[in-house]
Amino acid sequence: MMPPPGYILIRPETLVGVQKAVEAALGARAAECLAAGGRAGGVKATAQLEGDAASRAGRLLEAGREIGWGDFALERLTPTALVVSVAGSPFARAYGAAGAPVCHLTRGVLETLALVVLERPARVVETTCAAMGAERCRFESVPT
Ligand SMILES: [Zn+2]
Repeated sequence: MMPPPGYILIRPETLVGVQKAVEAALGARAAECLAAGGRAGGVKATAQLEGDAASRAGRLLEAGREIGWGDFALERLTPTALVVSVAGSPFARAYGAAGAPVCHLTRGVLETLALVVLERPARVVETTCAAMGAERCRFESVPT
């Protein structure tokens, strides 16, 4: 099994193992460390996008599906708001039950998407997560 050029294959359990170790070491600050990793990958992913905001967003979410990050759906895109949901997040599945959202890597990637497609700076918050029992993880931009 060969990954696409520029990628490596890694089990979600491996990433979640890192996540849980960082959480044990740093507590609440761990989420931002993981989101920073998502942003670093997101910078590469969004640099290759072309077209208007809707086509850039659509292409990134399609790429997310192709590399196994879940079934992404663009729920809302305006010049100032981005809402994305994901079914079957491998990070939520590998994490197991949790009292708070756990898909910080995905959130970081979507923060770079928000930088590219929104007219104002925004951070992204995961408002519901499959690890909390929700049907889909949901990510919403919040103006900064
Ligand atoms: Zn989630």
